[in-house]
Order: sequence, then structure tokens, then C-alpha cells
Amino acid sequence: MKSKNFVVPPDFIGQTFEYKCQKEDAYRTFEIELEPSYEPYFGYDIKIPDDFIIDEKLNHTFKAICKCKSCKEYHIEFFLHVFSNMPIPRTLIQGPVSLGFGNNKTEKTEKKATIFIEKVGANPEIKIIPNKAITNYFDRETNIWYFKGINALDKNFGIGAFAYFRRIIEKELIHIIENIKLLPDSHTAEIQKLLDKHNENPKVSTIYENIFEHLPNSLKVLGDNPIKLLYNQTSNGLHSLTEKDCLEKAEKILKLLEFVVKKINEEKSEIKDLKETIKGLK
Ligand SMILES: [Zn+2]
Repeated sequence: MKSKNFVVPPDFIGQTFEYKCQKEDAYRTFEIELEPSYEPYFGYDIKIPDDFIIDEKLNHTFKAICKCKSCKEYHIEFFLHVFSNMPIPRTLIQGPVSLGFGNNKTEKTEKKATIFIEKVGANPEIKIIPNKAITNYFDRETNIWYFKGINALDKNFGIGAFAYFRRIIEKELIHIIENIKLLPDSHTAEIQKLLDKHNENPKVSTIYENIFEHLPNSLKVLGDNPIKLLYNQTSNGLHSLTEKDCLEKAEKILKLLEFVVKKINEEKSEIKDLKETIKGLK
């Protein structure tokens, strides 16, 4: 039977988690493997090898190779530090045990050592790089949600990331439409009519649907209505979604949001350029 302890590297083999496969550009299930050099430690379950103990405490760092189960090619490497806060008995008790060793026969007082696992490094290095186009576009409050959202995404907290991105859309979508309205290629008067209607009764959501034909071409290239897609993300309940669903949705919202903001910025700078050119002609 498989031990439930996560003490030595072989204990981690076969553990799975959700992570982003860069090859497939999607969230997939990853499974932990070890390098062949750990083979001597297989079947350790009688005694913890000395290699993993410092000053009687469990203390070691090892490399976990985490492979995408879908394409079986993309993988990342984590360095995991496993340690205990107190000395632990070398001889392990059989069977699954929670994170703690108090059943040593000679010990009367139940002093349990707790085992901790922390990620100390990753390869390729995971970096959260905020998108400047986004941070320049939104105000401070929204940027705080944005930072929290991308941080949650980086740590694979799908529900957390999704919740923050939803909040951004709820607050910003009408502002985004107001900005789009001012772009040269937009049907300004038509969008204003939709906005007026919306302001009369904000609960009616027809603006998101009806704005499509009035968008500048650069925002129509998807074939789909990006504004409506963003709005739809806020109208479904969170409760029915799994962590994995949320991860995927959060990823998509972020991409879509970046696309819309980028297009708005591009069109705006185009007017600026044009104005400069005209100035030069005068
Ligand atoms: Zn993959």
C-alpha cells in the first residue's frame, strides 16, 4: 500500500496537480516523476536514509520533474524543500500516517514533529510580469485586483484568479465601452445611444450584445464579440465551477482583456500619430 507520508522523494511520485502546459497553451494535469538518481531510495519505508536528515530533523531539497500528462512532452522542474520542525524518529511506522510522528513506542509525551514542504525554485523560472498596457490603462484599485488575479493565476488558484478578473470586468466594462466610443473607427453616436439606454436601466444587458456592429474593425477581427464574451463571464455563477474550469476561464478573460485594452491603445495612438502628421503639414 502506498504511504501517505511525503518524507523522501519517492513519496512524491505520481502526485498530480493542475498547471499550465506551455506547449499546448492550456491548463493540464501534471504528474511528478523523479530522476533515476533517486532509485536507491525506493522502498525506504523501514528507515529514513541519513541523506535526508540534518541534526535529527528531516531536512532536504530535491528536484521533482513534473510532466504534462496530456502531451507527455512539456515538463517543469520544481525544487522542493522538505523539513520538520522537530527531530523525527528514523524508523517509520507502517501504513498511512498524517503529517506527524507521535507513535514512537518509547515516547510517552506526544510530541509530534510537523513536516513542511515548500517550493524553493522552479525551472523554467516562473515570473509574473504585469502587462504594462493593462496597468497604464486601469486605475489603482483595478490594478490591485489585477495584480492579485495574476498572482493567483501563477500559483494555480483558479477560483481566486477568476474572482478577481470578474470583479475587474464588473467595474470596468462600461468604462471600456466609453473609451471605445471615442475611437475614430467607432460609431460614436450609436454607442452613445446604447450607453444612454443602459444608464436608464443598468440591469438590462442588451448593450453588450448590440455594440458589436458599432465596434471599430480592430475589435471585430475575432469574429466574436469580445465585449459580450467578457460580460458573459460575470453572469455565470462561480459555485458550479471546478478549480480547473476557473483556471481556464481566468486565463481566457485575461487574454481577452489584454486584447481589448491593446486595441484601444493602438487606435488611440494612431489618432495621436495622425494629428502629429497633420500638424506637420500645416
Ligand atoms: Zn502538454
